[in-house]
Amino acid sequence: MNILAIFAHPDDLTIYCSGTLARWAEEGHSIFALCCTKGEVGTLRRDLTKEKVAEMRLKELMAANLIIGVEETIVLDYPDAGFISGPDLREKLIFYVRKIKADRVITFDPWVNYEVHPDHVIVGRMAAEAAAFSAFPLLYPDQLKEGIEPYKCSEVWLMGQLGHQPNYFVDITTTLEKKVNAALKFEATLELLAQLFAPNIDPANVSPDELKKLNKYANRLLRSIASAIGKNINLKAAEAFFVQKTLPGHFDNFQQQLSEMLGNPSEQPKIY
Ligand SMILES: [Zn+2]
Repeated sequence: MNILAIFAHPDDLTIYCSGTLARWAEEGHSIFALCCTKGEVGTLRRDLTKEKVAEMRLKELMAANLIIGVEETIVLDYPDAGFISGPDLREKLIFYVRKIKADRVITFDPWVNYEVHPDHVIVGRMAAEAAAFSAFPLLYPDQLKEGIEPYKCSEVWLMGQLGHQPNYFVDITTTLEKKVNAALKFEATLELLAQLFAPNIDPANVSPDELKKLNKYANRLLRSIASAIGKNINLKAAEAFFVQKTLPGHFDNFQQQLSEMLGNPSEQPKIY
């Protein structure tokens, strides 16, 4: 299968789904990573320029993707925390779904509540639409040249904080090491999220010694999150998803929606 991970910032995919991507890569699937921004505002430090931050974060992204087994990384240059044009992004993402012949798209859940980051919402929404609409030949017909054909992407895997109970858990016991190692490549993220691990560390001014500490705390946190997600379903480590199959222009979920509307319990989650 060709699997396309579509995310907003260089560090997103490692945190939410790299254990799963690493497993799929080990199983022989081709993994493509598409990052919509360079993450150039992702710091509280005052001594850096956007160019410098983008350069650091892209280097971290490439190092992480090497560990995960990503075959190709594509970086678009939409503004980080700016206003990404939905129609423009959708057209571009449909182009990549067609070009890569993506059978599965993995992205943010854009229907989650209390997500304040506009990039996560718009990227998730447009990525989901790209998966559901890339098969329509009359949509963006100008793309259909030089071997690019309409393509039916059959599944969308929504990652991260979900607007829905997970319906899939992926056992990442064997790839947790890769996930942790890949995530710890993102030093700029460790600094930015310093308050999450250590309230006393100033995220705008992290010393090398403090960075080592943050690294240790993040390592522990990533493992405990994976184990907390796995606990419910008796796995040592897991990542959670809400998976939707696609029909042209829709998610293939009419039966499930009807059943839930009538008050029936949702289906038991599957384990991969
Ligand atoms: Zn992000």
